[in-house]
Amino acid sequence: MDLYEIRKQFPVLKQEVYGKQVVYLDSAASSQKNIDVLLAERHVTLDFYGNIHRGAHYMADKTTEVFEGVRDKIRDFIQAGSREEIIFTKGTTESINLVAFSFGEAFIGPGDEIIVSEMEHHSNIVPWQMMAQRRGARVVPWPFTDSGELDPATLRSLITPRTKMVAFCHVSNVLGTVNPVREITALTHDRGVKVLIDGAQAIQHLPFSVQEIDADFYAFSSHKMYGPNGVGILYGKRELLEAMPPYQGGGEMISEVRFSGTTFNELPFKFEAGTPHITGVAGLGAAVDFLKKVGFDQIRAHEQMLIEKTTACLRQIPGIIFYGQAPVKSGVISFNIEGIHPYDAGTLLDKMGIAVRTGHHCADPVMARFGIPGTIRVSFGIYNTPEEIDRFAEALNKVISILRP
Ligand code: PMP
Repeated sequence: MDLYEIRKQFPVLKQEVYGKQVVYLDSAASSQKNIDVLLAERHVTLDFYGNIHRGAHYMADKTTEVFEGVRDKIRDFIQAGSREEIIFTKGTTESINLVAFSFGEAFIGPGDEIIVSEMEHHSNIVPWQMMAQRRGARVVPWPFTDSGELDPATLRSLITPRTKMVAFCHVSNVLGTVNPVREITALTHDRGVKVLIDGAQAIQHLPFSVQEIDADFYAFSSHKMYGPNGVGILYGKRELLEAMPPYQGGGEMISEVRFSGTTFNELPFKFEAGTPHITGVAGLGAAVDFLKKVGFDQIRAHEQMLIEKTTACLRQIPGIIFYGQAPVKSGVISFNIEGIHPYDAGTLLDKMGIAVRTGHHCADPVMARFGIPGTIRVSFGIYNTPEEIDRFAEALNKVISILRP
């Protein structure tokens, strides 16, 4: 597909901000949504909407068909072994909280350890800390290298007979590092330990199979993969999900409810209490179709070009400090400018119509590791163009000339 044709499917990118056409370089926070995603949500809403799985009538059945069809699409997209291993949640955050709670209840006891990489988003740190406190366990940090990489040898030295789980990201939302997931899961499984992979920044950029990388749990969000917000996925291996207690109680997750005791539904419904974001899931189905239509070869090639071009532009500017210099990167570039606070730079860029992210990016331990308050983060989607990178570089040079005496 032609890039400019793809871009046309994202009408919001025609927006003017402060009188200038917006350059949206914040897709790691949330990507824009294409027209087909909105049409899929609209189709369900306007043409036949009913509540799912309550099977009483035509409209409910038709909505259920769409909803369960998307579960099949996701299974195929990440190459899971079965549809029962795909749980709908409201986002990566909820997916990780679900595992931390339910896996913790089933498998973690006093004195146990959970290893968490230091490059994690807060949503892959705090749920483990909360669970550890409840279960009398301990969270052990796995430091990253100066170049922003996770060294499997360091992990090997951290695993003890008390380790029950290793939690880490596929791609870092600050450093852009693509972690060697297969190598990490292999060494972890060799020691009888399970892994949770946070795929929030990988799912929209890289093709992979959860079976091939041998993830025990894999979490991601629809709104970072061109789909609607309020929908997330948890993939979990069937035997683990079956051994774990439900996370929330309510409708749909039960088999039979009596005041003398309740029995729970089968997978995946056991983990899907209450009415989910039905129309959002329909939109996610269209987002998956879009990603498949564009194809990961084109996505990878285009985004690598954007990363290389942006890095080359930044290298020409004196005083740029990069964070994350791994040989394999995806999606984001984080940097600071000597003598300039990232927030000041971000505010001025915004006034020039350039949308970047500044701050700690919900990854305080990464900031602490580098001893900085935050970074400027540029992140890409399939719709960004090389011309936009030129506009960003020009604006950044202007910002520097204003802020640096
Ligand atoms: N993990 C990573 C790596 C992320 O980038 C994000 C979103 N910034 C999250 C988790 C949380 O995702 P959500 O807010 O969609 O739950």
